[in-house]
Amino acid sequence: MPIPRTTTRSKTTRRVRPGRWPHVVPDPAPRPEPVHPAERRLRDAGGPDDRAVYSCGCGYLFEARVTSSVSCPHCRTVQAW
Ligand SMILES: [Zn+2]
Repeated sequence: MPIPRTTTRSKTTRRVRPGRWPHVVPDPAPRPEPVHPAERRLRDAGGPDDRAVYSCGCGYLFEARVTSSVSCPHCRTVQAW
């Protein structure tokens, strides 16, 4: 009479570590508002008063002196001030 194999019987080797859940770190608070890179650069530089950041209709963002006629260096469109 053959001996029945008992090796298929799985032992309970699964070790569950109690209380070791991954540390959940909350996401940092989002910035209040997206600042345009050029505008932020201007603010970081101290923000000269006689210069302003213009956003042209072509999508080009540039800073120039605050004058009555500022033209876009990209498409030469005169910006309304
Ligand atoms: Zn333009």
